[in-house]
Amino acid sequence: MTIPFDPRLQLIGGAWRASVSGQTLPLTNPSDGSALAEIGRGQAADIAAAVSAAQCALDGEWGGLTAAERGRILMKMSAITLERADELARLEALDVGKPLKQGRADAVALARYLEFYGGAADKVHGETIPFAKGYTALTLREPHGVTGHIVPWNYPMQIIGRSVGAALAMGNACVLKPAEEACLSALAFGQIALQAGLPAGALNIVCGLGEEAGAALSAHPGVAHLSFTGSVAVGRLIQAAAALNTIPVTLELGGKSPQIVFADADLDAALPFLVNAGIQNAGQTCSAASRILVERSVFDEVRRRMAERYAALRVGPALEDPDVGPLISARQREIVQGYLALAASSGLVIAAQATLPAGLPAGGCYVAPTLLAPCAPEHRLAQEEIFGPVQVMIPFDGENHGEAQALRIANGTAYGLVAGVWTRDGGRALRMARGLRCGQVFINNYGAGGGVELPFGGVRHSGHGREKGFEALYGFSSLKTVAIKHD
Ligand code: NAD
Repeated sequence: MTIPFDPRLQLIGGAWRASVSGQTLPLTNPSDGSALAEIGRGQAADIAAAVSAAQCALDGEWGGLTAAERGRILMKMSAITLERADELARLEALDVGKPLKQGRADAVALARYLEFYGGAADKVHGETIPFAKGYTALTLREPHGVTGHIVPWNYPMQIIGRSVGAALAMGNACVLKPAEEACLSALAFGQIALQAGLPAGALNIVCGLGEEAGAALSAHPGVAHLSFTGSVAVGRLIQAAAALNTIPVTLELGGKSPQIVFADADLDAALPFLVNAGIQNAGQTCSAASRILVERSVFDEVRRRMAERYAALRVGPALEDPDVGPLISARQREIVQGYLALAASSGLVIAAQATLPAGLPAGGCYVAPTLLAPCAPEHRLAQEEIFGPVQVMIPFDGENHGEAQALRIANGTAYGLVAGVWTRDGGRALRMARGLRCGQVFINNYGAGGGVELPFGGVRHSGHGREKGFEALYGFSSLKTVAIKHD
């Protein structure tokens, strides 16, 4: 497949331009390790130009549109995204190693975010406040101004949809810095924005290294809000940079999310979610269910049935649309293999492992999906985010079907992003939902199909602030109070 644009160019002020330095960075196809393309190596000068173009858009055509007009443009972007969904899926397969089905699902999700936020653009409003005699007091929801969006490589389209989509709906002008490993779908998104008639400068895209373009964007004094999705370590740097400019920041970081299975659960319903939520996107999902907590009386049965599913997993190159594609890079594969070596040296038992088929391209970044059981809750594999297709199983028991112990284990990591609970007992489901320290809880499902309407975000090391749903629109706007004295 040829790439339908020149990926060395960046989108600034409605025009495609080479980076100021003229330098480029290589993109690699993780399915076989081949050279895929070159992207621009944006640096501080490119970020400065993008921020200035965004400010011009706010002061010009984009800032002058009504909310309904902004919404219509987003709707148009949504329609074009859907038309180009197959092409976007193929770009993502080449660039990120994402199986085609998953890439298509991401493109459809991007379209849905644009539709949702397009429809919501003119439905977020302030209030009038009962106040002192002789006053009318009201609130206005206004854009922050120029918003910076730094996204990772694992779900570029979905993350662009939920952050840039919401920011544009509220009238901000965006500077997007995609991950250096995965820029193609972001650049295609720039094309789609222009095709849909988004005014120049409302969306600017600068590719480049995190420590260059990303750091320059997070430190730029012209940026009024930062949205970051990525690792905890970089999230801390972003928050520190935001602090120096005293601007708000949304951090969507990692996780070590549990699914908790009680003995009374409908195991037939649970089984596909228990495995899929661990291996989807080769486990490179912030909300991956990497810990499976199971009531001891059904532990062996769940382990056996998960193992059967592992045995059926197909691993292969992204364009062959397998269940599990390659990891994003050789570096990521080494990290995951390091965890598997640690599991072996500390005596963790492999309960199931998918086989890597003969004939996989030698340069591909493949790791066999692996289920480790049982694992102590305090073991590093049960505490740290692995970001690969590796799950651990942890038994629990005790009074009241082990509810208290399950909660202690589930809440016993530094993270708090998502949790799933499988039980037929309604009271237990609600007690668990209240007791879990995280941003989303799913009862008798996991992920709810990714619902764009559902606010998403974490607590503790998983970050703070909420994206998705209407919450994102509040986050991407600033509230102004107006008090009018009239007699
Ligand atoms: P990363 O933090 O290395 O990179 C993310 C982005 O930050 C990239 O665009 C990168 O270029 C940029 N960056 C790197 N260094 C920077 C710096 N010094 N200043 C500014 N920007 C910089 O993360 P990653 O390896 O790309 O992604 C994996 C991590 O992201 C995992 O921990 C995962 O859990 C997390 N993640 C979280 C969510 C969520 O919604 N909570 C979603 C996807 C991924």
